[in-house]
Amino acid sequence: MKSIIIIGGGLAGLVGANYMVEKGLSVTLVEKKRYPFHRVCGEYISNETIPFLKARGLFPQEFNPPKINRFQLTSLNGRVALLPLDLGGFGISRYSFDHFLYKKALDKGVNFVLDTEVESVLFKDESFFVRTGQTELSADLVIGSFGKRSRLDLSMKRSFVQKRSPYAGVKYHIRTDQPADLISLHNFKDGYCGISQIEDQKFTLCYLTHRINLKSHGSIKAMEEAVLFKNPYLKSIFRNSEFLFDKPEVINEISFATKTPIENHVLMTGDAAGMITPLCGNGMAMAIHSAKILSELVIEYSAGKITREHLEIQYSQKWNSLFAIRLWTGRQIQRLFGDEWTSNLAINLMRKSQPLAELIIKKTHGQPF
Ligand SMILES: Cc1cc2nc3c(=O)[nH]c(=O)nc-3n(C[C@H](O)[C@H](O)[C@H](O)COP(=O)(O)OP(=O)(O)OC[C@H]3O[C@@H](n4cnc5c(N)ncnc54)[C@H](O)[C@@H]3O)c2cc1C
Repeated sequence: MKSIIIIGGGLAGLVGANYMVEKGLSVTLVEKKRYPFHRVCGEYISNETIPFLKARGLFPQEFNPPKINRFQLTSLNGRVALLPLDLGGFGISRYSFDHFLYKKALDKGVNFVLDTEVESVLFKDESFFVRTGQTELSADLVIGSFGKRSRLDLSMKRSFVQKRSPYAGVKYHIRTDQPADLISLHNFKDGYCGISQIEDQKFTLCYLTHRINLKSHGSIKAMEEAVLFKNPYLKSIFRNSEFLFDKPEVINEISFATKTPIENHVLMTGDAAGMITPLCGNGMAMAIHSAKILSELVIEYSAGKITREHLEIQYSQKWNSLFAIRLWTGRQIQRLFGDEWTSNLAINLMRKSQPLAELIIKKTHGQPF
């Protein structure tokens, strides 16, 4: 039986761990933090994931996640476009969803090493050596699901970490007055903010902003008042909602640069393989999907049906055919909404042309798997 180490227990790592342990593989998952914990994420999950999650018993039905099938887009000058979401999605906090997947994996026998950060990975003589601050673990295969940016990217000398990235993400949970089936996206200068419902009638308010906004206003609160409040919809939501966190969750250095799905024989899934812009709303679906295709190949490798070389070639090919164009499209759509003038124009065009609006929305969702 092959031994697998998964580095990072977000959606990609937890879904892969659940899948592979069920098929009899020996799985150890090393996670920097301890569950449950909050993450910066819009918490809208595309329905393309539902067939797979249900088939593997991983759909979080016990939280009664709201079904979301309408999309509202607002521009800085107060224009609104309201559109149907054909495929749609559901809402659940990462706090609850990741904890739910963690407990499932624990019950099935995944060995968790929590509160532990991996510092480096070495591949030598067909084995991997994974070093943490305390110890060294070894395995036949290592899966990198350590998210958008990690100290491991630095130790692996991945090219995207050599450049600074200008984006920051901020998240709150709030109680507000918005229909449960609606996801709204509000533009502001050099950023956009999504709001949609999650479990327990709470809502996630999450935005992406250029660090220039933060730098020029000194604090998050001052920036929100000076920049986000220029959109009248956002001003009203901030003024009339109950904010449930003492302080927001914040992350910096969010990069959408191209990455590779394999690095020094480490097989990357989720954001570690490539991050889609949040505007295209589907990083979580891609994390789950990439964990699925990788797990299937690892199971074949473990059964002796394919060699390591074939595993790497096939994973790389599948990953590129499923996600490379989607990531590129996400970057182009984000460019359209990154600027005040172009976002006003895009919203006007989407209001006037239903086919164009439908095309853009279609590009942000994948096929059910
Ligand atoms: C502002 C914003 C809004 C978003 N909104 C949405 C949305 O509404 N819908 C959607 O589908 N996607 C959204 N996304 C994208 C989505 O959050 C990610 O695509 C998704 O979380 C990727 O999952 P992952 O498992 O790859 O990584 P993560 O969920 O980030 O998990 C990575 C894990 O690895 C751990 N880790 C990192 N380094 C190490 C290490 N060295 N050793 C051990 N552990 C380590 C981390 O602690 C973390 O738990 C958004 C992203 C941003 C930034």
